[in-house]
Amino acid sequence: MINKVEENTQIKNVSGQSDKHWEKYRLDMLKSFPSPYRNENDTLALAINKAILEIDNLKPEKSMGSAFLGTNSELTIDFEKVKQSSLNQMMNKPEIVIEEVIKLFEGLPNWGHPLTMCNVNPQGNTAAIIAAILTELFAPNILEGEYAWNIHQAELESGGILANLAGWVSKDSGCVYTYGGSGCWTYQLKYALTRVLPDSRNIGIRTDAKVICSQQAHYTMLNSTDWMGLGMNNIIRIKTDVETNAMDINDLEEVMKDCTAKKIPIASIVCTMGTTDANAFDPVKEVRDLIEKYGNPEGYGKTVLYCDSVIGWSWLAFKNYDFTINPLGFSDTVLPYIKNNYNAIKDVFYADAFGVDFHKTGFSPYISSVFVYKNALEFESLLSRDSSVYLQPRSPYNPMNYTLEVSRAATGSMVGWATLKFFGHEGFQSVLGGILENKVYLQNKIDENSEMVCVNPSDYGLVTLLRIYPNGMDAQAQFNNELNSPSFRDDLIKYNKLTLAIGDLLFQWFRSGKKINGLFTPHLSFSTGFRATKYNRDMKDKEAVVYAIKMFPMNVYITPEIMNHTLVCVAAARDEVMIAVK
Ligand SMILES: *Cc1c(COP(=O)(O)O)cnc(C)c1O
Repeated sequence: MINKVEENTQIKNVSGQSDKHWEKYRLDMLKSFPSPYRNENDTLALAINKAILEIDNLKPEKSMGSAFLGTNSELTIDFEKVKQSSLNQMMNKPEIVIEEVIKLFEGLPNWGHPLTMCNVNPQGNTAAIIAAILTELFAPNILEGEYAWNIHQAELESGGILANLAGWVSKDSGCVYTYGGSGCWTYQLKYALTRVLPDSRNIGIRTDAKVICSQQAHYTMLNSTDWMGLGMNNIIRIKTDVETNAMDINDLEEVMKDCTAKKIPIASIVCTMGTTDANAFDPVKEVRDLIEKYGNPEGYGKTVLYCDSVIGWSWLAFKNYDFTINPLGFSDTVLPYIKNNYNAIKDVFYADAFGVDFHKTGFSPYISSVFVYKNALEFESLLSRDSSVYLQPRSPYNPMNYTLEVSRAATGSMVGWATLKFFGHEGFQSVLGGILENKVYLQNKIDENSEMVCVNPSDYGLVTLLRIYPNGMDAQAQFNNELNSPSFRDDLIKYNKLTLAIGDLLFQWFRSGKKINGLFTPHLSFSTGFRATKYNRDMKDKEAVVYAIKMFPMNVYITPEIMNHTLVCVAAARDEVMIAVK
């Protein structure tokens, strides 16, 4: 260290004009910033290329390899010491920093790996990744025109395309890219509070307006109601149908009647369109009818109907699919699944707004979420604020006047837009339909194995949920009993524990680089309650819920061999847990 400092103080300014060290540093820095001018030997381009080749070395060599990057799957952060850090004294060489950056990727799940099936986390498509990288190079800010210029096209055109998919008049609709499906939820709540409690923008929320969603709704409802200041107690959760997991419209009507009788305004009703585990789609059309039937009490605006479709949205790509001719040739089993999903999602038409996560079923990198609204004039004027003294409108499009964020990176909008341009209808159709073909293959394999049971056989989503029982047990019969009969509650809980232990062991195997039959084991996950038992519809009994091992075959590199191997690994984990129990 001392040597370095001395060495540095000895360096004289190359220009020879000054021995001011700050000037020497500034000259040094020129090599570490991209050149503003065109250059055949663009140091940035070369360095990016080199960095990508280096990070590629973390990928496994063979066709399979581990499902994590690098060779060390251990957590290497020293959690005790990591915060006892201070800024280094000297300037560093960027090459050294980049090496350190690459090191942090060691052990990370490799989303591109076919053994990665833990969640609805797809690998990003190349066009979107490059769109994201290029956007970082010139850092457009999509808050307004001066700093975004033509880049605004990405957000505006995404809004048009998505509104068209929903069957809306696209020129009258709009969208804002934001910080995730949770950001979209927050946007809908703000929209709803502003519409229903018009004076809340100035005086704050003074009325306990309600937000209604189903038992299966995403937990981000807590984030949004908490952070918006409405309060988590103002969420009302509607029962879900035992078979479909969709919102029970009769229960909803009871709640709405009750609110009407008590003169309590409903800010918004959220229909979840494709839940993570159960692929439930709520009945948007019926909800719309109920909103028309039970208006809010006098003095309050109209209830907002939002579709939390951040998972289910991409089925909209089947809008123009001819299910009779079946031009892409999906199997007879899969075709009705697709049709069912499309018929469910197309009802976003009845909503005021819907959410889209490109980083889920859009095969894009984080974060590329977009909140799409039907009535741009209403939404943008409801939320409008005076423009800033710092910024002058240089184009007709100035979202900074109504967005949550001030500066907004263009990354998400460029990623989403590039993805729409890349896939088109048929690209989305093939990638989604292909997952279902894989899922059906997997379900058939599970059916061949009497100790395993697929516990979501009748949902049409991308995930397969599985329970495995001890050797020799009839899984299907056992599971039916556990699902239906309170006298099997103890069994249910016992095998929930088994499922949990298997899930934890599989994670440990994935992390420790275990191999079975010469192949690494998959990165799966599990749900500790993807649905309630039939006798526990209101979920009062926290334990009478179904645990399951989760397989999300999102990856485009997945093959039947990999799925067979996955089931072998699940059975092997069951065997090892059973031995440990004995
Ligand atoms: C993932 C998800 C969210 C949260 O979205 P993020 O992008 O993770 O912020 C909200 N709702 C549903 C239904 C989801 O699946």
